[in-house]
Amino acid sequence: MTVLVTGGAGYIGGHMALALLDAGEEVVVLDNLSTGFRWAVPPEAKLVVGDFGDAALVDQIIAGHKIDAIAHFAAKIVVPESVADPLSYYLNNTAKARNLLECAVRNEVRHFIFSSTAAVYGEPSVNPVFETVPLAPINPYGRSKLMVEWMLQDVAAAHGLRFAALRYFNVAGADPQGRLGQSSPVATHLIKVAVQAALGHRAGLDVFGTDYPTKDGSCIRDYIQVTDLVDAHLLALRHLRAGGESLTCNCGYGRGLSVLEVIDVVKKVSGVDFEVRRKGRRAGDPASLVAGAERIRTELGWSPKHDDLNEIVRQALDWERRLHNRKA
Ligand code: UDP
Repeated sequence: MTVLVTGGAGYIGGHMALALLDAGEEVVVLDNLSTGFRWAVPPEAKLVVGDFGDAALVDQIIAGHKIDAIAHFAAKIVVPESVADPLSYYLNNTAKARNLLECAVRNEVRHFIFSSTAAVYGEPSVNPVFETVPLAPINPYGRSKLMVEWMLQDVAAAHGLRFAALRYFNVAGADPQGRLGQSSPVATHLIKVAVQAALGHRAGLDVFGTDYPTKDGSCIRDYIQVTDLVDAHLLALRHLRAGGESLTCNCGYGRGLSVLEVIDVVKKVSGVDFEVRRKGRRAGDPASLVAGAERIRTELGWSPKHDDLNEIVRQALDWERRLHNRKA
């Protein structure tokens, strides 16, 4: 059996392709290389360069390989960009996902793993936030992903497909073997930006908002290491293949860290005291998002191995150095 990984030339999809291959699976990556990289796709995987919303292409891939599962990572993921350009998020994340689901149904691909997001919760009234709370995303990114969760529920009920919707909290770090990491040239995510500041690849860092109702005024997030995250996907795939029910799970450690705390860890681990500028709030940011992290452990038996921000930052620093040398 072969797994189709959309967005497999990107950060999380690339780690998933590695993990699947490490587990002895066959992998076809479908990626339009808009933000991913050809070199990020492991040579043992087959890369098809194209758009996951291209139904004819997806039909052809499914027919040409024994695809029994789709792991759908390809998406736009930057909250402020979604606020500025919502329609591109509804096209890429929502409308094209609808086409992909139609292909899955038409070709009887029964297992679907979806990269969802904690942004579906919006500004939750309780933290940690559990899967059962009412969903109220506060930005187009979160809404564009929530609509796919709804489509999955409806398609599962109508057509017998089974899915795992995994709601990612803040993904960071890199492959512990140093094969891959977060490689986007336009970094917006906190740990990546902080690591670049520490290595002198950018001039310092802006903290977006220090007047939130949190312990130190900066936003609280739950940072999860990327190979721990893809392990959850492998478990979800195994669960679905074994006939398990569709499920929706938070992917986080259940531990909240503030932006200022993360910056301190990056300074400590790197040994560099880079400039930190306190700025106003960024559009679309909730104050706090911490995972209620029990369901994934009980339903899938997930047991993270890298729940340590020092280690996550060390991996991110190592990868950033490697990436910089590769470019130089
Ligand atoms: N953040 C920041 N400076 C940066 C990048 C991010 O202060 O250069 C903050 C951001 O406002 C949010 C937190 O870090 O409060 C996490 O943002 P990120 O973009 O990493 O992930 P998100 O939570 O938006 O998915």
